[in-house]
Amino acid sequence: MESGLARKKRVDAADIAKRTPVASSGIVQAAGTEPAPCAPMLRLLFAIFLASTAAAENPGSVTLVPLEKLSDRSFTALAQRALGVRAVDWRHAETEHFVLHFFDAGTAAAVSVEVEFYYRVIAEELGRDTARWERKCHVFLFHEEGDWREFKAEAALDRWSGGLHSGGTIFLLRNAGWKARAQTLPHEVAHLVFERFVGSGVPLWLNEGFAEYAAGRCMAAFYRARGFNARPRVAAVPEERFVPLAALTTAAAYPRDEEDVMAFYNESEKLVRFLAATDRRGFFALLDAMGKGARFESALARSFGSRFPSLDVLEREFKPYATTALRPN
Ligand SMILES: [Zn+2]
Repeated sequence: MESGLARKKRVDAADIAKRTPVASSGIVQAAGTEPAPCAPMLRLLFAIFLASTAAAENPGSVTLVPLEKLSDRSFTALAQRALGVRAVDWRHAETEHFVLHFFDAGTAAAVSVEVEFYYRVIAEELGRDTARWERKCHVFLFHEEGDWREFKAEAALDRWSGGLHSGGTIFLLRNAGWKARAQTLPHEVAHLVFERFVGSGVPLWLNEGFAEYAAGRCMAAFYRARGFNARPRVAAVPEERFVPLAALTTAAAYPRDEEDVMAFYNESEKLVRFLAATDRRGFFALLDAMGKGARFESALARSFGSRFPSLDVLEREFKPYATTALRPN
């Protein structure tokens, strides 16, 4: 198990990112996957296996593409800052949906497999026709802690670390310290795909809740595809930290207290999971309405009206679900 402190650190990073003007998303939080079995040695073997699997699916390595030959070179201001860090050493490659920028080809080869896999899982979770994905999204893979620190300093994001989605671009630190269970990449890919196909104007709980939910599904699917018995793992929301839905679904900022932040992520993830599991079509209709700017209550009435005629009815069913350590659906 990961320590509570480490988890808290990651959540911190997520929310600091959210509070900064340029950053739009965060890191990995409580939801995760648990490859079974999970003893340290087996986990190490699993990491080695994962690396070799990725290499096998992408034999050799990624094919390098010169910067000037990339199919999309529309870089955001933050992307340009990233490219300015050790500028001559960046390498580039493309996958079906992404343009990868990296220092380490082995890392890029592994990520090229992961990122496309996550993309497919998330598109499925959104129920969207993602064939319209024509312009590729950029993923910057930092390898050295020093480069990452320099980038963060350049971008004036001093306390933030780990990974970030901003304006359709992902920035990620991925090196030997990376943990196979980390959900940073699928979390950020989920933000990216969500923004593109649902919109960026949705409330905080839905944005973070979906990213956590989808990241958990991604990781579980990724492990299962490789023969591991993995399921999304979600912590219960402590009863005393449960936020009434009227407040959760209208929150415009993260809570100040770190434990409350954890609970906010957990509860948001659980609400997404609960609605998606209750009625998948209803959930897609809700996403549609929310993406078009509807308030949660009116979106709920439109998409789950017969099941949850009011927020109170939803809360009566949802609260025991959120505050009990149930197996996720
Ligand atoms: Zn996030």
